[in-house]
Amino acid sequence: MIIEVYLSLGSNIGDKKAYLEEAIIEIGKIAKTELRAVSSFYITKPWGKLEQADFINMVIKIMTSLSAERLLENLQNIEMKMGRQDNGRWGPRIIDIDILLYGDKIIHTEELVVPHPHMKQRLFVLVPLMELNPDLVFPDDGAHIQEVLSKVLDREGEDNIIKRL
Ligand code: AMP
Repeated sequence: MIIEVYLSLGSNIGDKKAYLEEAIIEIGKIAKTELRAVSSFYITKPWGKLEQADFINMVIKIMTSLSAERLLENLQNIEMKMGRQDNGRWGPRIIDIDILLYGDKIIHTEELVVPHPHMKQRLFVLVPLMELNPDLVFPDDGAHIQEVLSKVLDREGEDNIIKRL
């Protein structure tokens, strides 16, 4: 079965845009997987740990017939190959790739939680995701992306995001 998957990509060290572009090329080479759409690049303030450089974040859409677990393995291999070191949770990173949505599946294993647990609070995910799919409905609670985004914007304003590159 071919599944529509949304991935979140972020980088906050060095030539961030180049790292993101490299990651997209590598994701396009994963077996049984096809790149379908790429959002704009968004400059965003760090989340969690504030004393670090700005991020560039984006969302991409792929189609894959890999299982979610196999896809995650492939994405983690790309992160490692690109030289990501573990700088702690929310620390600086060359590249971070998260699975946001895997079709309408709800997954709760030790390795994988999908829909991604923080995605509905993060403008740097919601804004590029809505750019790719303004009609998206979340499979876990049936919420519409436009509702979710406007709630977060009401709460936070647009200050910590977002300049489109
Ligand atoms: P991070 O350091 O933010 O990239 O987190 C990586 C860890 O999160 C890995 O150990 C994954 O197994 C786990 N994880 C749980 N859910 C997800 C998800 N939806 N996408 C990517 N990694 C996930």
